Order: sequence, then structure tokens, then C-alpha cells
Amino acid sequence: MQDEKKDIKSFTIAELTEEFLALGEKKFRATQVFEWLHRRGVTDFMQMTNLSAQLRETLESQYRIVTLREVKRLASAQDETVKFLFALPDDKVIESVFMKYRHGNSVCISSQAGCRMGCRFCASTLGGLERNLSASEMLEQIYRIQELTGERVSNVVVMGTGEPMDNYENLVRFLRLISAPEGQNMSIRNITVSTCGIVENMRRFANEGLPVTLALSLHAPNDEARKRLMPVANRYALSEVLAACDYYFEQTGRRISYEYSLVAGENDTEAEADALGRLLKGKNCHVNLIPVNPIKERDYKQSSFKNVLNFRKRLEKYNINVTIRRELGADIGAACGQLRKSHLDSVALHTEET
Ligand code: SAH
Repeated sequence: MQDEKKDIKSFTIAELTEEFLALGEKKFRATQVFEWLHRRGVTDFMQMTNLSAQLRETLESQYRIVTLREVKRLASAQDETVKFLFALPDDKVIESVFMKYRHGNSVCISSQAGCRMGCRFCASTLGGLERNLSASEMLEQIYRIQELTGERVSNVVVMGTGEPMDNYENLVRFLRLISAPEGQNMSIRNITVSTCGIVENMRRFANEGLPVTLALSLHAPNDEARKRLMPVANRYALSEVLAACDYYFEQTGRRISYEYSLVAGENDTEAEADALGRLLKGKNCHVNLIPVNPIKERDYKQSSFKNVLNFRKRLEKYNINVTIRRELGADIGAACGQLRKSHLDSVALHTEET
């Protein structure tokens, strides 16, 4: 059984060292294997040519190397964004997006297969949560994309399907692994983690010594409007969520990025811009305005471009740093969970037909 073998790609170098000592192997073998897995991205023990054949066989019998299989690839005709649909070892599917920016290549990864947060405008949550992703499955999205595109990835955003603070241990493990000097050595400062606001874990995260950029999905300037869009707002008051953001800033010195998806008639009035301005005034932060990406299951509509510009202008009056998120890959349904959802729908349809 595959599951009885240990997931070697999720071990930190310290843990791997313990494993190797227990096998009666020298310590430096752990570093060698870690480099094969995390720097070179090999998918088979037999490729680890500086190990003895006997050690490779021992590893093969006790460990598995988690790899993802490409199911589908959609390349944008408008820009260089590429969306990948990957199958996990148990054949569940997830999506990841490769984006090119002037400052480097970025990958948006999923942290869960599905999601249980229920945000009303989001496609990822429609089928609920299937399961958490392991650290290795988060890493693999980046390793496979580097391999498939031949490009080096310097930035990661954990903004794909799933709520990272709902898969806390694996998220933290992933961050330690991707930044390990013996592996990709990615700068923690080049990573953004986006959360809908799970307060306890945001506070815990502030003290992990992993100063990523924290993005908070705010989407409304008061509890009532937020509850209409995000069920998680019933669990945590806006005041608690903002206090957790302030705490994160105090502990890490990293300014918070507030995400605000503009939905016509739901959260995009001038009064709401002013309320948001008053709420964030004086904070060292950044606001990202995202015209909502409509999904077919809901009738939410994008705010008009004029409204988006006006919303920004009003926020700027409060001396807040605002950007309007450039829409990359709009033609390939790059919004959270859309590709995965349409894939699952077509599989379901196919199954019904046959
Ligand atoms: N669960 C995390 C990360 C995943 S979603 C979170 O909630 O932050 C990444 C961002 O995209 C969030 O701000 C989310 O609210 C937003 N989002 C999801 N679906 C969207 C859509 N259809 N249009 C615009 N933004 C969307």
C-alpha cells in the first residue's frame, strides 16, 4: 500500500537526518537526499546516483516521493499566464497558476483540495473540502511548474484553492521547506499567504519566525456586509480580525495586504469606501482592489470600472496605499477554483451520461 510508505518530501532536513541515523546511515546522506528532492526535483530514488544501489532500494521500500501529474494546461492568449490542473497521488485534482511579472516568476498554489470556508463569490468552496494538502503536495506544484515551463520561480502566493490557516501545520512545514538553504532557498519575503481571517492561527503564525506577506481577505468594511459575503465572519468579529493583523505587523514588521473584491451593489458604494478608509486609516498597509470574477453558480457582478476607480480615489483620501489588481489570464478562468470546478463538473456529467 502506497500510504504505508512515508512521505519523504515532507520531512525537514533535521527530521530526515533522524531518519537516516535510525537507518544506520551517515548524517550527510540526509543532505544529499534533501538536495535531490528539493533542489533538483527528482521523482525517483533511482535518479539519486550518488547513493549506493542498496540505500536506494531501502529508501524505495520505506518511502514514497509524492509527485503531481499534469492533467490539463491552459495558456492565456492575452499574457503569459498558464494555469495547470494537477492530479494528486489519490487522483483528486487541484489547480495552480504560473504568472510572469517584471520582478520575476510567480506561482499561485492551492493549500487544500476544495475549501470549507464558503465565501459566497468563490468557486473553490462550492463542493466543500475534500482534504488538506501535505507540505510535499504544496511544494510539488512549484517543482512541477518549474520543470514543465523550464522557468525559475522566485515568488509564491498561497492564494489558490483552500484556506491556508485551516491547514496550519502543513502550511508552516511547506514554508520551512521552500525556504531551506539546501533546497530552493526561496526568500520568505517573496511569499504571500492569504487568509479569510482565522484569528487564532493568524496570531500563532505571527510568532513562527516566517515573515511572509500576510494578505487578509476583507471584502467588506463592517460585520454585517462581511457576514453576507463570508460565513467565517460569523465566527470572528471584524475588530478581532483587524487586531490579529495589527499583531502580525507588530511581530513581523511586514505590512498587511488587505484584499477587497468589488461586487456590484454588495460592497462598492462610496459610503463603503469611506467606511473602509476610516477602518484602515493610519495603518501601515496596502489595499488590493479586485473586481470580482463572476462565477456561473452565483449572480454576483463586477463593479463597473468607473466605480472601481472612484472607490480607489476615495480610499486614497485617507492616505491609504491602493492598487487595482491587474487581471492576468482572465480568458482562462484564472479566478480561484474555476478550472478545478469545471473539470469536476465535466467528470460528473460524463459519469451521469455513461
Ligand atoms: N482562503 C484564502 C486564500 C484563497 S482565495 C483567502 O480567503 O484569502 C484568494 C483571494 O481571492 C481571496 O481574497 C478571495 O476572497 C478571492 N476570491 C475568491 N474568489 C474570487 C472571485 N470569484 N473574484 C474575486 N476574488 C475572489
